[in-house]
Amino acid sequence: MLVHICCSVDSHFFLKRLREDFPDETLTAFFYDPNIHPYSEYSLRLLDVKRSCRKLGVKLIEGPYDFEVWLDAVKGYEREPEKGMRCEICFDRRFEISAKKAGELGEKRMTTTLLVSPKKSQEQLLKTGRRVAADYGVEFVYVDYRSSGGTQLQQQVSKKEALYRQNYCGCLYALAQQREQQKMPAAELFSPICSSILPASVEERLNMYEKRLSIEDKGGNYRIFRHKFMNYRLKYGWVKQKGEILPSHILPYSYMKRRRCKGKTEYIEDGLGRLLREEILLLTLERYNRLISADYSCIRELIYAPPSFEEDLKVRDYLGMGARDISPVIILERIPEGSLEVCIDSEIYPDVREKLVVM
Ligand code: SF4
Repeated sequence: MLVHICCSVDSHFFLKRLREDFPDETLTAFFYDPNIHPYSEYSLRLLDVKRSCRKLGVKLIEGPYDFEVWLDAVKGYEREPEKGMRCEICFDRRFEISAKKAGELGEKRMTTTLLVSPKKSQEQLLKTGRRVAADYGVEFVYVDYRSSGGTQLQQQVSKKEALYRQNYCGCLYALAQQREQQKMPAAELFSPICSSILPASVEERLNMYEKRLSIEDKGGNYRIFRHKFMNYRLKYGWVKQKGEILPSHILPYSYMKRRRCKGKTEYIEDGLGRLLREEILLLTLERYNRLISADYSCIRELIYAPPSFEEDLKVRDYLGMGARDISPVIILERIPEGSLEVCIDSEIYPDVREKLVVM
């Protein structure tokens, strides 16, 4: 039987139950989920599914990540709520490719781990699954592993196996809607051009789960802890003089309530200056280089290959600013005389971060 897989939290429990109920079937897992965005989140979910299938001894096949085809398919349904038309099209697409794969492999039956997901409509899955599978001459197997305490049992299994638990369904539209309701930025969609790793980002989690896998492979012990902290995302920012953009680098936790301001510059000493508005601190690249022992030749170089987020943050310490200081700190090639216009659109918000502790 071909089993379409959506994520490890659903698949680990589902595959175990399926094996009990269909002992004569050889199960083949098929990970086809081009709906998952961004790609790093897709890689993370796949990584954990690989780990789960390896533990269960189930063969896993990865489908194509044809994200653009999926985007085209759901065009016009971006604002639909979960369980609406967009989801039906999403299931259609994933089941169609799964049914094709089942046909290619000579499988007569297929099913999906989405059936165990508490947030999905089983009626919708059943309707779509049966229709699509029939088109390819495959039987869609419907099982209900949610009722009679199934969901609680699934949660226990997920906890015991330390599976990666994502907190959104998968697509960028559901993510944006969810974060809007939570009044939180859709931090998963931030991707700096320099590809640096932001705190509590998908990339940070991906690195951590890869490390976890290598610890497990070596037989090591570990724990994953969660902790609350104030997170930061810079949406955009710039510095202008007489309408011309000046190359600049904005330090993490730089925040301006009004987002824009205009003021005169004042040179203080030794590569340090300030803008006489919004408590903005200006730092020359030369002073910045000295503080972090770097040798950036221009701001552009710094923008494309900055130090890590944590290293960058240390500059605030070196400048004697407190841990809770959110004054904007801007690095410029030189501190210009006259008036500057500054724009910083950033968010500081409570968040949760996972931490891997090797025992
Ligand atoms: S909410 Fe989930 S099921 Fe619905 S379209 Fe997005 S990824 Fe697909």
